Parts: sequence; C-alpha cells; structure tokens
Amino acid sequence: MKTDRTQVLVVGAGPVGLMTALSLAQAGIKVEIIDREDRTTARSYACALHPRTLRLLDKLGLAEPVISAGRRVPTVAFYDLGTRRAEIRLRELGGAFPFLLVVPQSALEGVLEECLLKKHGIKVQWNHRLDRFEEKAGMVTATVEKLAGTAMGYIVPHWETMVQKVISVKTKFLVGADGHNSLVRQRLKLPYERVSPSQTFITCEFATDGEIEPEVRIVLDENSTNVLWPLPDDKYRWTFQLVHTDGPHDFPEKDRWKRDSLDQALNEEIRSGLGRLIMRRAPWFTASIGAISWSKHVSFEGRLVQKFGAGRCWLVGDAAHQTSPVGVQSLNVGIAEGDLLAQTLQQRLREEEPVDTFPAFEAARQNEWRQLLGQGGTIGAGGDADAWVRQRCARILPCLPASGEDLVRLAGQLKLELGPMPVAA
Ligand SMILES: Cc1cc2nc3c(=O)[nH]c(=O)nc-3n(C[C@H](O)[C@H](O)[C@H](O)COP(=O)(O)OP(=O)(O)OC[C@H]3O[C@@H](n4cnc5c(N)ncnc54)[C@H](O)[C@@H]3O)c2cc1C
Repeated sequence: MKTDRTQVLVVGAGPVGLMTALSLAQAGIKVEIIDREDRTTARSYACALHPRTLRLLDKLGLAEPVISAGRRVPTVAFYDLGTRRAEIRLRELGGAFPFLLVVPQSALEGVLEECLLKKHGIKVQWNHRLDRFEEKAGMVTATVEKLAGTAMGYIVPHWETMVQKVISVKTKFLVGADGHNSLVRQRLKLPYERVSPSQTFITCEFATDGEIEPEVRIVLDENSTNVLWPLPDDKYRWTFQLVHTDGPHDFPEKDRWKRDSLDQALNEEIRSGLGRLIMRRAPWFTASIGAISWSKHVSFEGRLVQKFGAGRCWLVGDAAHQTSPVGVQSLNVGIAEGDLLAQTLQQRLREEEPVDTFPAFEAARQNEWRQLLGQGGTIGAGGDADAWVRQRCARILPCLPASGEDLVRLAGQLKLELGPMPVAA
C-alpha cells in the first residue's frame, strides 16, 4: 500500500466502493481503497444505470465514457406472458439523461477505476483483504492481509491464496463497501434484517443476428418475474426467475470456455432450457439465440441493515441492503449512497465534529430503503390505475429503474402512488 495512514479507508472496489473513493478524492480527501480480489468483475452483473446515476457520474466528468460503452433504452415495457400490459417512458423525465443506460457492470467499474488512477493517482490495492479493525482514540486501526497466489500440488497443480504480508493501516474513517457478506457489517455486529424471501434467477447472455430492440421488457406472470435486457454489442440477456416447477439443473451454468466438444454440449443444454422458458413465459420473443457467452444462477432477497454504521465505521452498497435485481436499485442507489457518505465524511473531517452518529445520512438511507423495499405499504394504486397494474403494484415497485423523485414520476405514469419521499441524496 502507498501509505499506512490515511483519512478514509474504503474496503471493497465494487462499483459502490469505487464511486465512494472517487467522490472522496474529488473532495480532496486522502483515501485508500483495497479489495481482496485481483481485479474488477469480468461480467455484466447489474447491467443498467438510472438517470440519477448518470447525473452523478456527470458531476465527475464520467457520464460520456460510460454512455459510450452502453445502450440507451428509453422505454421499459411490462408483459404478462404474451400480452403487453403497460409501459414506462423515461424520456418524460426530461433532463440531460432521459433514458436507462444498459451497460455491463464490468465496463462501469473499468471507467471508475481508470479515473481514480489517472485523475487522482489512486491505485486500487487489489489482493488486499481486510481481516479486522479496531476503533480507539479517534482512529480506526485496520489489519489488512496482502495476498499472493501460489501454485501448489504435484503433477496436478492448483492455485492457492497465501498471506504474503500483514499491514496495519491507521485511518480516521473506515467505509465497508464489501458486498453482501460484508465483514465490516459482521464485525460491527449490525443486525441485517430479512424483509422478503429469497428468489433464485437464471441469467443468460447470448448473441443474436437480428435487430436489437432498444426496450427493456419485464414479464410479470402469476408466479415469476423475468426480464429481457438489450445489451450493447448485439447481445441479449434474459433473466428468468426459477420457480418450484423449474429444476435449476435443467439450466446449467457457464462461466468460462471449456473444450469445444464439452462447450457444444453445454450450449445445447442451455439453449434448450432457455427455449423452454421463452416458450412458456415470453412467446413473443422470436430473436435468434446465437453463441451463449454466460449463464449463471443467482439468488436475491430483500434485506436491510438496522443501522448503517457506528462511530467511525460506515456501510454502503450491498453491505447494507439487497433487493430484487430487476430495477437494478441495489447498484444505483448504492452509488448515490457512496456519494452521500463521501459528502458526510468530508464535512466531518473538515469540522472535526463528534462522530458517533451521522443522523442525516442514517435517516436518508433508512427512509429511502424502506420505501424501495415496500416497507409499511409504501406503494398503492390510484383510483384510475389499470386493474393488472393494481393487482401487481407491490411486485412492480422493485422493477422500476429509478429512485427518489424519478421513481415517483415513473410510478405515476402507471398511476401508482408512493408514500413519503426520502430525503434527497
Ligand atoms: C451473477 C450476478 C448477477 C447479478 N445481476 C444483477 C442484476 O441483474 N441486477 C442487479 O441489480 N444486481 C445484480 N447483481 C448484484 C450487483 O452486482 C451488486 O448489487 C453490486 O455489485 C453491488 O455493488 P457493491 O459495490 O455494493 O458490492 P460488490 O460489487 O459485491 O463489491 C464488494 C467488493 O468487496 C470486496 N471484498 C469483500 N470482502 C472483502 C474484504 N474482507 N477485504 C477486501 N475486499 C473485500 C469484494 O471482493 C468485492 O469486490 C448481480 C450479482 C451477481 C454476482
């Protein structure tokens, strides 16, 4: 690491940690960022950015490079099997970015990492794992392990991770942007409440020959939520929720290229699983399914941390919350959260105020997340809402690709009404 003493140590270089580090660096705060992995993600994962996120990126001069790596999508349509039931039009939001940007998470992370390095001279410390931390006398001391890979085994080698060095880092604040299994959250003993049951999805990306329609399509049938993403580079991505009648084994995973013969068999198995789900749930989808580049099972549940932090240690992103993947709210709201925490820390560092609580940050995060997670019946249908929309209104909320004022306006297009507004980030 460049230094063993800093103002803020960000743990986790996912999109939220990178954004938090950038906002801090932009404000002139001394920041270090570590991650236990050896690079950014290689996959599309959370693959869409809301207009609010593009506005934030624009403040850092990053909207343009991110937009050039993605596909602009002006509408999101809702289907129930073969029938188109409703649509929302992002262009009616106005402003500089009246669209959803479909862009792989890997591309976003690449732009953020490059900006940290080129503009601020901050290198992400890959292969650095937080082990523990302790707060004492106005400082946090973090114990970080520097990892190295080494080939082990005789005849059949395999890679193992070894601790090469243990580093002690002294920091004024520690930010846990370390994802859903957050060690920072666990060490702080912050309860992580489950507010909705786990849902499992299969996500699959493939090339197609025909014209890609610039529309996100969400299929909400009686039992499942599914989404079609038009990706850049002539690809589609289907995410299907698996229900009890779909055996996960009908749909194998594909994360890396295998030998040709194995690859062909795997592709055929995935292709026929995909074909069956499309026929049952989205019979209108007739595009060709070309080369399959990725297929993965992933589970999500609604969760929210009871408190976002304590003393000098605070959480952002998936470390503090989780929701359904369709509206991409975890990533996008997490990014805004990182920026808000950076502003809060900046103020505290400047004023040298007591730091035991961050009441405005805590209230803003709890309000916004309770609204997004539909806690306390925060969404209802107006008198003139369509009957299909009315029936599914609680399931539509996590599918809307927005937060804050934009969320209220998009919900309003469907005649849905949201409860009290969160404090703006
Ligand atoms: C297969 C898959 C598909 C997904 N699809 C969707 C989707 O369709 N829609 C959607 O909204 N979301 C999706 N997600 C979730 C989305 O990727 C996350 O919401 C997003 O990445 C959250 O960002 P984050 O920065 O908070 O956390 P993460 O991206 O999880 O980053 C946390 C980082 O912390 C690092 N870390 C953890 N512990 C330590 C430690 N002790 N020391 C140092 N570093 C540590 C990790 O290596 C990681 O890089 C998907 C995720 C996966 C895996």
